[in-house]
Amino acid sequence: MTNFIKLFSGIGIVSLIFMSCQDTNTKKITENDTQAPKYVFLFIGDGMGISHVKLTEAYLHSLTQDKPGFEALSFDTLPITGISTTHANNRLITGSAAAGTAISTGYKTNIGRIGKSPDKTEKYESIAYKFQDQGYKIGIVSSVSINHATPAAFYANQDSRKYYYSIGLDLIDSDFDFFGGGGFHKADSLADKNLYALAEKAGYQIYRETINPDTLNVGEKVMLVNPILGSDAEMPYAIDRAHEGGYSLADITKAGIQQLMNDQGFFMMVEGGKIDWASHENDAATIVHEMTDFDLAVQQALNFYLEHPDECLIIVTSDHETGGLSLGNASGGYDTDFAMLKKQRMSYYRSRKISIDKSFDKSMIEDIYGIDDLSDWELSMLALAKHPQDNPDYHMDYGAYHPYLKTCNKILNLRSGVGFTNWDHTAEPVPVYAIGNSQMLFSGSYDNTDIPKKIMEACGFDY
Ligand SMILES: [Zn+2]
Repeated sequence: MTNFIKLFSGIGIVSLIFMSCQDTNTKKITENDTQAPKYVFLFIGDGMGISHVKLTEAYLHSLTQDKPGFEALSFDTLPITGISTTHANNRLITGSAAAGTAISTGYKTNIGRIGKSPDKTEKYESIAYKFQDQGYKIGIVSSVSINHATPAAFYANQDSRKYYYSIGLDLIDSDFDFFGGGGFHKADSLADKNLYALAEKAGYQIYRETINPDTLNVGEKVMLVNPILGSDAEMPYAIDRAHEGGYSLADITKAGIQQLMNDQGFFMMVEGGKIDWASHENDAATIVHEMTDFDLAVQQALNFYLEHPDECLIIVTSDHETGGLSLGNASGGYDTDFAMLKKQRMSYYRSRKISIDKSFDKSMIEDIYGIDDLSDWELSMLALAKHPQDNPDYHMDYGAYHPYLKTCNKILNLRSGVGFTNWDHTAEPVPVYAIGNSQMLFSGSYDNTDIPKKIMEACGFDY
């Protein structure tokens, strides 16, 4: 256990004793009562279920220990834990737009809506605007494109998450103080009105090159865009950063804190957006790297908390689970060997990108996944993947992905003991972790629409 985690475990115990003496569920801000939190962080691990947390912890533990166990991520040591349901208005299994809207506004809506009612007639106000009205500075950070569904739910009101350009216009109109991470997806939908140019015209300082984030001009409205972006204007996967470069989510979060710090307070939402993407791809090694990266971003807020414990509230949660991830699978029985995931050298996504012109043979699984002792069964899986049209279970085995590369990936997952039940989201409830001012509000079992209500209650805002 690291000293950092030990420190938080200690704080957690003290905080629990302290908070248990207060009736925090009826907290109201009065002259004699505790002040509302000034610095509020909301971290959203997109697609992160409890299994994602525990797989990462078991993986980290397995790297140094022979006996089974878990090395806690820092946010899994926070004093308060809760559990949240995630369903949409029109479907039990939600998506990021409806779930983002639930977490940002407190309202259920239909799949695909961003901050609007199921029938599209009503706009729901994000808590980020409520904070802005109260004089807080606002920061929105995501590892995927900044006009993607989850970040969009905090500043936009659109009938569909697919209206990237209109969502980008809403971002510019928001007048929020800091946007960081991914760039604009489809910035040029209207040729003469590039979203970056419009944002600049609206007063945003836009940084798209690698800079020292410490040199940002504090006080100005800033967009800090990762210098390396994928086809959806998203940041590269953490597992690929050594090859592709760019900032980590923690770098962007740290820069955001510096940019937002002021006496009136700030609200900051940080999304680890590619936990979801790697989970859709059933790419376990990439998931644990994304999770570790997300945790390092949370640690930036926890460092800040240590300096402002009474004024800070940090919440870490998820919008939904993706992949139906399990620790254990049918082919492995009771055996797991998560340390094996360390052999994977790049994400499935990158392997697809760099192998586009290559012939697919078993050397790929050695190069990318470090496996050179294939069993007859594994060889037969690879042989079938070379003729996927002969596979009656095509969708179950390959989803929408490259059959051969996906089979290589699957062999490593099966050997390590990771299971996936599907290529999409599930309705599994998701964890909530909290520390700081009003932390007790986040204990227990509730719905995702309760999360913004709890934040507003903590801050004394009307809902
Ligand atoms: Zn998803």
